[in-house]
Amino acid sequence: MSPRRQNRAAAEELTSRLSARGRRPTAQRLLVLEALRRSRRTVTAADLFEQLRADHPLIGRATVFRSLDSLVDAGLAQRFERAGHVSAYAACSTEHHHHLVCTGCDTTVEIDEASIARLAGELSQRHGFTVHHGTLDFYGLCASCSDRASGAQRRA
Ligand SMILES: [Zn+2]
Ligand SMILES: [Zn+2]
Repeated sequence: MSPRRQNRAAAEELTSRLSARGRRPTAQRLLVLEALRRSRRTVTAADLFEQLRADHPLIGRATVFRSLDSLVDAGLAQRFERAGHVSAYAACSTEHHHHLVCTGCDTTVEIDEASIARLAGELSQRHGFTVHHGTLDFYGLCASCSDRASGAQRRA
């Protein structure tokens, strides 16, 4: 899909998701969503505001913060925790999934439901509990950050 068609598809998805929740897909919300989609890393609201302001000098800080909240409500983005009670955000695909989040470089990867199906099966056996859905995010180091960390250890 061309980037332009991808954006149009994103706009349609945003329209239907937000209007299902009685919210309008404003130009600002779309702008915020596009900026999130361009990033492979989680970004804080403050960083996102700085990024957007470079091209859109009139955008307001509060607008960016509110847009992020409504994207999270609509299931198009997710909020992640960083050290020091800071929230960071990433765009989300529509299928149900979980995340790997690197605390070294903030890269985030979506992992599908199938990767935790075995865990759900085990929980069901051990606790007699039927899992309907869950949100499970894993925080740690990505391959290149852990390479770098073990390299630093060897040098020390
Ligand atoms: Zn996601
Ligand atoms: Zn990393």
